Amino acid sequence: MFTTLDRRLKMQQCLNCDKKFKYKQIMRSSMYGYKPIVCSHCGETHAVTLDSRIRIAIVIVAFPMVATQFIWGNFKYERVLFYILTIIPLVFMVPFLMKYRKKEQG
Ligand SMILES: [Zn+2]
Repeated sequence: MFTTLDRRLKMQQCLNCDKKFKYKQIMRSSMYGYKPIVCSHCGETHAVTLDSRIRIAIVIVAFPMVATQFIWGNFKYERVLFYILTIIPLVFMVPFLMKYRKKEQG
């Protein structure tokens, strides 16, 4: 199970020259509405796949919301706090969940 997880949590590398994207690069792309990443080595443009957008939406929004509902019921203040505490580590996971494909030219 750990090997599978390990493989899935590898950060994206350039699909053209295999240079690994930096954590910061992917994080910045995610924070600014899934901006394409340009490889610093060969200049190839990579667009975020729809699949990763869905995955991020589930991990960052749906999962913590469901978890929060189950755990805290009607206590609103604690719910918000719990939601925030759940989201922080998940946000740092985002670069590992993002997948890119080569952007078609033109
Ligand atoms: Zn490259």
